[in-house]
Amino acid sequence: MGRRKRRVPAARTRPAGFEPVVAGQTSPQRSVPSHIPLPPYALSGRSGPAPPGVEPSASATIEAMRLAGSAARRVLAAVAAEIAPGVTSDHLDEVCHEACVAEGGYPSPLNYNGYPKSLCTSVNEIICHGIPDDRPLRDGDIVNCDVTIFVGGVHGDHSETFLVGDVDAPSRRLVEVTRESMYHGIAAVRPGAMVCDIGRAIEARAEAEGYGVVREFVGHGIGQIFHRLPNIPHYYDPSARTELVEGMTFTVEPMITMGMPRAQMWPDGWTAVTADRSRTAQFEHTVVVTPDGVELLTVTDDEPQPFLVGDIVARLDPARWPQQLSTASVRAG
Ligand code: MN
Repeated sequence: MGRRKRRVPAARTRPAGFEPVVAGQTSPQRSVPSHIPLPPYALSGRSGPAPPGVEPSASATIEAMRLAGSAARRVLAAVAAEIAPGVTSDHLDEVCHEACVAEGGYPSPLNYNGYPKSLCTSVNEIICHGIPDDRPLRDGDIVNCDVTIFVGGVHGDHSETFLVGDVDAPSRRLVEVTRESMYHGIAAVRPGAMVCDIGRAIEARAEAEGYGVVREFVGHGIGQIFHRLPNIPHYYDPSARTELVEGMTFTVEPMITMGMPRAQMWPDGWTAVTADRSRTAQFEHTVVVTPDGVELLTVTDDEPQPFLVGDIVARLDPARWPQQLSTASVRAG
């Protein structure tokens, strides 16, 4: 066993005056118009068993995933443009739902294993799968909005963490490093690399800042099925030796914590929070392994593709990455 440096958690993991989030009231479940094609679980709420093993997606599936991915990016941009202090996460859910329908798609989370809403909104110490409700966003919050759309028979899965109004410097740093760690993980993808190379790169970037990496939730294979193999750990798991092969489609979606990364579940069975109630951030892209590198599927055609070739220095240059989406807070100056 190699010796590992002990991680020193940040001194303060929650800004003064910010108590843990409590569950609010949820609005009635939304419905989609009858012309929208449904994924198999939409009516039953049961996702059923995923296919065994890992297989590359067919080229027609990958082409459909480019369209679904760019749709997810546009939906997330529409959600982001509404984010400001005082706005409820239920409103963001409504914007997501209507934007998915306007794309001709179905909001994948809706009734997936019984999930009640069309969007996941994870505020402050919520790691993931926060359920939109009537809690107004507060000046100084951070909120991850996780969009998945099912359109053209495939899913596109994409999230960013947004600043709500004036956010304290430690939280801004957490959000920035989480975004960097996602891109460092994506930069490790190329044919012949292994799944564990992704988590190793993410963990190295996060732990260099004293942050934790959540282990209970992982990235996943995606395509015609919302969640399938391979699992993509965001920490270094030496047993994750699946070789990355051209055409494989999966998500990279690290959840990074200011304090200890251990997760706890709310009684709703969905909302995962840090056990120490430290703040946590997440970013996510859906990607496909290409002959020379990796393509981001959850971007629009006019955005950069910095990972298509194996030049590792270029891949790690933040100036080459897609821009973060703008919130209403940002636009208001
Ligand atoms: Mn995902």
